[in-house]
This record gives sequence, C-alpha cells and structure tokens, in this order.
Amino acid sequence: MPEVLFRVDLNKPMEEQEAPGHNRWHPDIPATVSVNPGAVFRIECKDWTDGQIQNNDDPSDVRDVNLNRVHVLSGPVWVNGAQPGDVLVVDILDIGAIQGAEWGFNGIFDRNNGGGFLTEHFPEAAKSIWDFHGIYTTSRHVPGVKFAGILHPGLIGVAPSHELLDRWNSREKALAAQNPNRVPPLANLPNPHSAVLGSLRGAEFERVAREGARTVPPRENGGNCDIKNLSKGTRIYFPVFVEGAKLSLGDLHFSQGDGEITFCGGIEMAGWVDLHVDIIKGGMAKYNIIHNPIFKPGPVDPHYSEFLVFEGISVDEHSGSQHYLDAHIAYRRACLNAIEYLKTKGFTGEQAYMLLGTAPVEGRIGGIVDIPNACCTISIPTAIFEQDILPR
Ligand code: ZN
Repeated sequence: MPEVLFRVDLNKPMEEQEAPGHNRWHPDIPATVSVNPGAVFRIECKDWTDGQIQNNDDPSDVRDVNLNRVHVLSGPVWVNGAQPGDVLVVDILDIGAIQGAEWGFNGIFDRNNGGGFLTEHFPEAAKSIWDFHGIYTTSRHVPGVKFAGILHPGLIGVAPSHELLDRWNSREKALAAQNPNRVPPLANLPNPHSAVLGSLRGAEFERVAREGARTVPPRENGGNCDIKNLSKGTRIYFPVFVEGAKLSLGDLHFSQGDGEITFCGGIEMAGWVDLHVDIIKGGMAKYNIIHNPIFKPGPVDPHYSEFLVFEGISVDEHSGSQHYLDAHIAYRRACLNAIEYLKTKGFTGEQAYMLLGTAPVEGRIGGIVDIPNACCTISIPTAIFEQDILPR
C-alpha cells in the first residue's frame, strides 16, 4: 500500500482535519504536501458534502444540505519542479471505499436548494443509499437492481493562475447577471460562507474566501468534470497554471451514469485514491494541451454488452417548441423517455431518476448536425435488472 499523504477522519469536518483540504479554487491556497515526479502515494477523501448525508431512509438531510460546503477536496498536492506551461501527468492507480464506510448515496435535490437536471419534473428531495459488496452495489431504496461499480473521482484538477481565476469569475458573473433571481442560479459565484481554505487564516483567509471560485463547474483546470471513465488505470494530462501544479481531488463516486443527472451525485462516497504523478516539461505548447485536460481511460470497466437505448430530440417537453440543435434539451428528453418507460416496469419516477444518475448508463450525442434537432441517447445496460426489462 502506498504511503498515505492526506488522511481524513470521517467524524470531523474538513476544517478540523489534521491537515485540512479546501472547497474553493484559488492559487493562494497553500499545498498540504509535496511530492517528486515519479511518486506513488495515497490520498484519502471525504464525500463531497463533508459528511452531511447520513445512511438512513430520511431525505431531509438532502433537502437541507449546506451547498456552500461543497466540494470538500483533498490537497493541494505540490509537485516539485512543475512550472506553468508544463503538463502534469496523473495516473489513477486504484480507488476504494474507506474501511467501515462501504456505502454511498445518491439523491434528488430540492428545487430551491440545488435543483438538478430534471428539477421541473422532480422538485422535491429524495435519497437512495447504496451498499457496496466488493465490486457490486445494491440499494434498499431501488430494489431489483444490481451492478458493478466504475469508481472514479468526480472532481480532480490543478490550481488556476490568478489571471485564469479572474477570467472565470468575470465570465460567470456576467452569466449570472443575465437572470440574478433564477432558481437554481445560472452560476455559483464566489461566496465566503462555509469556505474551507487549508491552513489559511486571518486576512488572507478573508481575501481568498471572497475571491475563490466555487468548485461546481468543470473548467480549464479539469475540476468537477464528473466523467465516469476517469476510473482505475486512467492517465490524465493536465495543463499546469501555477508553480507546483497544486493538484486536488475529491467527490469520489462508486458509480455514475453519464451526465450525473440528479446533481446530488453519482454514488457519492468517502474513499482513497492511489496516484502516480509525472511532468512533461513544456507540454502545454508541445501538445497544445492549453484549454482543458485530456485523458486515456483505464482498462478496468464493468463489462456490459447489451443495452436498451432511449432517444431524445431538441423539442421542449412543456411548450412543444422547437430548439436549434440543443443537446441539453435532447438529453433531457432522452432521460425523461427512459424514466417514463421504467415506470411501466414497477419503478417510481424518483427511483428511475436516481437509477439513471447511478448506474453505468452511457450518454451519447447521436447527431448534432441534423437541423433543427439534436439527437441524444441514453443507453441502459439490461443486465443490471433482476427482471426482463424489454418490451414484450
Ligand atoms: Zn459527485
């Protein structure tokens, strides 16, 4: 087992950990640990809400969750010798749950506290607890389903430079200003409430808490991409924006469907990740890895070969109005079609919604050129169901 460089105590909030992590992006958050290129090490992570969701049948903790606390991240890890313009190579060697906490959660956020992809259709909070049995998971809240996990960090990224952080904050502020009273908001702007910033204290803490970007969206530094295929064996190439690269991660998922559509996660868990890091000097310009990371998925995946696939097109379900090649609407319609179908097989709408957020379903863009309809699909592996799921 590699050396544990970042430890978490699941009974303590992030700011009370021996070496606290952080829940904002900012170049001035100090690194908690440093490693050399070539190092192999273990990082432990809390779940993304910092332990706010309990293993019980009551969804009120999801309804009342403090979203200013998310995502609590482990790190930053300083990589000796990394300079702006380099590429940081990160291998995800292995991932697992913390011993004694072999369970995770998925939920539907209340429309007024987080919302989600289908919040107009599912405005009230719900929760499902998933128990891990080795590589498999089942839920007492979604009976009749069992599948193998595809463990991954929902969130992994490097620190932004000051200049890049300023760009994020100004473009997201401009977007939010288009409809400042919207629920849920168009963007989550910097908010000092419940900020955790490693070892920073005093005036420095106040300044960074005011400026630090929220961790919700994916950005140029990677961040909350929620790509389920960043699983065991994956190699990621990050553009480096600050000295030391300052790698952080968290939001571990036991499994997730493409799109992480409930927003209250895939199957959210506390766990550990074994990493190997290296540097490609000058790699950003050499390979034009400038705007976003690239990655090579690992060889370990659940092996499902048969799927039932639902299509969706870019026509709004409420008004029936036509939208131009809008993949967001098309994917929503595909998911709604899947949920309506699963309701004919004994699932509630909430169970079906949470299933699409947790099971290894594949989301695709079938067509993005056939004016005026985008065509998106969601593919559900048939073998995850105890019952025959096809129409007969
Ligand atoms: Zn997550």
